[in-house]
Amino acid sequence: MCLNVKSKDICQFFTERLKKTDMAHWGYMTKNGPSTWGKDFPIANGERQSPIDIVTSAAEYDSDVQGSSPLSTNYTPESEVKLVNNGHSIMCQITKKGVLTGGPLGKDEYRLEQFHLHWGAEDGRGSEHTVDGKMYASELHLVHWNATKYSSFADAVQKPDGLAVLGIFITPGVACNQFKVISDNCGKLKTSGAEMTVETTLDPTLLLPSNTSDYWTYLGSLTTPPLFESVTWIVFKEPVEYSKEQLSALRNLVDSDDNPMQDNNRPPAPLKQRKVKKTFT
Ligand SMILES: [Zn+2]
Repeated sequence: MCLNVKSKDICQFFTERLKKTDMAHWGYMTKNGPSTWGKDFPIANGERQSPIDIVTSAAEYDSDVQGSSPLSTNYTPESEVKLVNNGHSIMCQITKKGVLTGGPLGKDEYRLEQFHLHWGAEDGRGSEHTVDGKMYASELHLVHWNATKYSSFADAVQKPDGLAVLGIFITPGVACNQFKVISDNCGKLKTSGAEMTVETTLDPTLLLPSNTSDYWTYLGSLTTPPLFESVTWIVFKEPVEYSKEQLSALRNLVDSDDNPMQDNNRPPAPLKQRKVKKTFT
């Protein structure tokens, strides 16, 4: 104990500590949920926030989005799968080189960094993007960073053209085989901070819908704090099916507030001056 420190300074120290803890402690409850994020992250009310409600009649068909180089992925299957319960979602950290390019990203190569999901307490809600107000049961996010312009994910994460996220709607139906490594291991990742590496293969390509040419695209943000406005969003029109068991495995996880991890989806933000483009008519 340092006796030279005045009690006022100690008080100051703990107040600062508390503030920091509080900032880190965002969540999805009334006390720390999306409507409160603006206090610590004023960009929550910014000009290009995500998610949004996609109004299909207002989305503009733009043949240039596909242009001469359609959207394409070149992922490498993972040979071991690194999973983390980060307190807000379940995340798979990618270790192999995977590239997303073309479409609205032009010639820049975006590197796959991780994927995670958002979901509801029940099938009728849980996606972050909505389509004419319709919510899906869940939404998968494959997060990429611009490796043509930046040196790392950390370097890219705040840049206006730093990230590209593929959004995939999930609907109840048959099981998704490639998602089994995640859903089968949720029981071992129940608590916030739990991590594990599973000795198996996973090909991120097989998490995508079969139709990857029909999508909406717009400029937006991260949907969780720090809410950086750095994301080119690509939201596929065709949903992917997960089984009831796979969806309930997600709902049995526990979040950083020790609640069932459910309804970890931010509601749609205002579109403001932005235009949503679509690649199909
Ligand atoms: Zn997300």
